[in-house]
Amino acid sequence: MKSKRICIIGAGLSGLSLAWKKENLGHEVQIIEAASRVGGVLQSKCLEGYLLDYGANSLSLRFQDTYDTLFQMGVMDHAIDADSITNKRFIVRNGKLVALPLNLPSFFLSSFLSPLGKLRLLLEPFISKGNQNAKESVASFISRRLGKEALDYAANPFISGIYASKPETLNLANSFPSLYQLEQQSGSIFLGMLKKGNKRKRIPKTRLISFPKGMCQLTELIASSLKKTSIKTEESVIAVEKTLSNWRISTVSITGEKSVFECDEVISTLPIQKSINIDWKNLNAAENLSDLHQVTHYPLSLAYFGVDREKIKHPLDGFGFLVPEKENLSILGTLFSSTLFPQRAPNGKVLLTTFVGGERRPDLALATEDVISEVVREDLSKLIGLQGKPEFFHLKRWMQSIPLPDDKMNFRKQAADALSQGNEGLFFSGSAFTGVSLPNCIDSD
Ligand SMILES: Cc1cc2nc3c(=O)[nH]c(=O)nc-3n(C[C@H](O)[C@H](O)[C@H](O)COP(=O)(O)OP(=O)(O)OC[C@H]3O[C@@H](n4cnc5c(N)ncnc54)[C@H](O)[C@@H]3O)c2cc1C
Repeated sequence: MKSKRICIIGAGLSGLSLAWKKENLGHEVQIIEAASRVGGVLQSKCLEGYLLDYGANSLSLRFQDTYDTLFQMGVMDHAIDADSITNKRFIVRNGKLVALPLNLPSFFLSSFLSPLGKLRLLLEPFISKGNQNAKESVASFISRRLGKEALDYAANPFISGIYASKPETLNLANSFPSLYQLEQQSGSIFLGMLKKGNKRKRIPKTRLISFPKGMCQLTELIASSLKKTSIKTEESVIAVEKTLSNWRISTVSITGEKSVFECDEVISTLPIQKSINIDWKNLNAAENLSDLHQVTHYPLSLAYFGVDREKIKHPLDGFGFLVPEKENLSILGTLFSSTLFPQRAPNGKVLLTTFVGGERRPDLALATEDVISEVVREDLSKLIGLQGKPEFFHLKRWMQSIPLPDDKMNFRKQAADALSQGNEGLFFSGSAFTGVSLPNCIDSD
């Protein structure tokens, strides 16, 4: 195969993973990154002895091919596994933390659903298949197949935990393609899961991993595994121009210096809200650019509390908890960060990471630090018996947190395909196209 000169825009997890694959295929890769560091959303910060993750807090490793890629990148030697107690996850029901069942006996004993809600869940294999509607929302699918209570007390908190959104907003086929496929192929989620089909190979046991320096170390390790790729930081791409024979990329450095270079292929892994600022020149099918940039985001704030262990009544024996909207609390949920991984808090202290805002309360994500700190303190005092004020408080605000897999994702994916077909050597990747989970960013090609 002829070696190509490939420009990748953005050194987040998507851009770095793509660079690793292209380099291994023998191509010459140039990554351009606007920030002073690699990693994009994956940012970790050490403050007063607490280790905070601003973006993803962990990577859920399920599939063999994702593991193999990370292993070959040399990342797995540094990975640390979450404490096994964090298999336990809580939701709030009637103002109390209720552990989610981990097996069939605990499903019958758990109070996360009422007896009627559980019975409705068990009827799932007998519910007839829906129409092939690629536009169905997650809310419609879950209430149709599993019942309204499962929507309110399982899907609603789960979606706010992953996407800071609501099941009514998300498109099922875009956000949970495997659930959509299970119904289409087997007529039922449960029966489909029991069938042994042409499934992607799983690792023996799902692993939840992070790194001693936090999640930013994942992208630092991938960057250092790149042997022939050049990474330019503090350099923003401002224009991408199709020429007669290849691509011309214009950049500007943070000191204002402009430069131009040529390449055979260009892969954008830009967040959509940044892609709008690029001057895309001489493109065929350019009428698709407006659809390419269709995206829904909500603001989200992460409130970090560092607290003396004895000031919390709850044993913090799990991953954390999620709050269903029906419970009428202010927060979306809290991670027991120092239970998840060691060395996240000084001795005798705990670190809690609480999510505020999203689609449910965008106003609250934008409130002042004092307001957010107070509503978080109030809810944590009701739910886990937090006494007094935290001795450590820090806030991270994401104005445009997560590109949602709603109906707009269909528009941007179709537009990306049309632009790639019309312009040889132009590709679009990154979480807005592949899906936001870290494995999706690693596995994309
Ligand atoms: C608060 C939060 C919590 C999350 N938690 C989890 C979790 O627990 N588990 C999980 O699996 N996922 C989680 N995610 C999602 C996951 O972190 C992201 O989907 C993923 O990191 C996105 O990576 P990316 O490379 O596609 O994009 P980005 O990380 O956004 O990278 C894009 C890069 O492009 C650069 N750039 C922008 N403009 C230019 C320009 N003009 N020129 C050059 N470069 C430019 C940016 O600086 C950036 O580095 C979370 C996301 C958020 C926001």
